[in-house]
Amino acid sequence: MGFPKLRSCQARLPGGRLSALTSSLIKPRKKAQTNASILNTKELMLEIRPSCEHCNKELPFNTTDAMICTFECTFCRDCVENILQHICPNCGGNFVSRPIRPKDLLEKYPVSNKRIYKPVDVETHLQRINNV
Ligand SMILES: [Zn+2]
Ligand SMILES: [Zn+2]
Repeated sequence: MGFPKLRSCQARLPGGRLSALTSSLIKPRKKAQTNASILNTKELMLEIRPSCEHCNKELPFNTTDAMICTFECTFCRDCVENILQHICPNCGGNFVSRPIRPKDLLEKYPVSNKRIYKPVDVETHLQRINNV
């Protein structure tokens, strides 16, 4: 089971985010927040990336063709179904359709412009998933 060489998903997991979290835990907020914000910080929201990691196809926020894994690796549906065989090449997890962020929230919670273009070594990927 699992992948022999598990590359960490190129998510921006720990680092800054962790310490930001910690410090907000240490310093209690002076006032309870109102419910005006859906999210307390931008840090916690889903990253809506603008393109497919494998083929670099544009994946606008409102496309139904975007698929993400649990680490928000983002691929187009074509790549996921026809090339990746529904398995994330970065973390070995599965994919789900990316939800569409409602337009009226985009100003407050903008989509990511972090374009990742990192074509998958398809042969290696298929070997890995077939050896599982
Ligand atoms: Zn693609
Ligand atoms: Zn992944």
